[in-house]
Amino acid sequence: MVVVLDSVRPRHPEKAGRPDTPLIPKPAWIRVKAPGGGAFIETSRIVREHGLHTVCQEASCPNIGECWAVRHATFLIMGDTCTRACAFCDVKTGLPGPLDPAESSSVADATAKLGLRHVVVTSVDRDDLADGGGAHFAATIRAIRAKSPGTTIEVLTPDFLRKDGALEVVVEARPDVFNHNLETVPSRYLTVRPGARYFHSVRLLARVKELDPTLFTKSGIMMGLGEVRNEVLQVMDDLRSAEVDFLTVGQYLQPSRKHHEVVRYVPPEEFEELKTVAYAKGFLMVAASPLTRSSHHAGEDFARLKAARAAKLPR
Ligand code: SF4
Repeated sequence: MVVVLDSVRPRHPEKAGRPDTPLIPKPAWIRVKAPGGGAFIETSRIVREHGLHTVCQEASCPNIGECWAVRHATFLIMGDTCTRACAFCDVKTGLPGPLDPAESSSVADATAKLGLRHVVVTSVDRDDLADGGGAHFAATIRAIRAKSPGTTIEVLTPDFLRKDGALEVVVEARPDVFNHNLETVPSRYLTVRPGARYFHSVRLLARVKELDPTLFTKSGIMMGLGEVRNEVLQVMDDLRSAEVDFLTVGQYLQPSRKHHEVVRYVPPEEFEELKTVAYAKGFLMVAASPLTRSSHHAGEDFARLKAARAAKLPR
């Protein structure tokens, strides 16, 4: 009998046989706060005690030192193993285990313990589930609402590709912000996000607004994956056609030499310029900088988003 120990299984078996990608040195503007300190340790303890996963840890987010120092963790639900194998992502891939029915209340408890006024909940892709995990997302939203009625809720969902009805279930649970990242421009999809379809993702975002125009919608892309400027502008137009409110644009960072290479480090001035263009195209909010991530400063950004919508309403 052959026993395969989980600890020796690579995190990304589909990438293990690939040749190493080139590494270009990080520029001076990619600087992050080192993790540590009292609040960081406390956040880490609360996450661990509730048996939860965070995308901050699983995706090796560079902002973890900054975010956890203010107790802002983004929960990763439905396990730590993803059924997709995107070329940029550091979340473990493989066949996940069954859902934990107690997870929704654990997320609600941890949200209350951390004292979060705005919580972000994301998940791995669960192509193995009949509803892609839609009902589990909805249960988690409801559990947080019941425990912390004053907390606003942002979900960052998978694309629910071929999971008819899943999106509707999530929208019915009424998160405050519905986020789904396009990640990159359409020409890079087959390389960067091979299990996904660009127009399906755009359509998903448009459908959220059709189902409930009061929800805020949000999406993001990474720079440095081989995209060209005109394609980025086209993505902005596509997102505006889907009436997306909030755009995030950040620099892709390579988790390992088996992941997609960083084709280019985009200088901060170029992010500023993209931000100006995006505002001109009609987004209510734009966050664009090398270290922008979907959930970075999500609470403060949500307050600004609400204020921006209110300022546009007729008086
Ligand atoms: S930016 Fe988001 S994923 Fe990264 S550490 Fe902050 S909350 Fe976590």
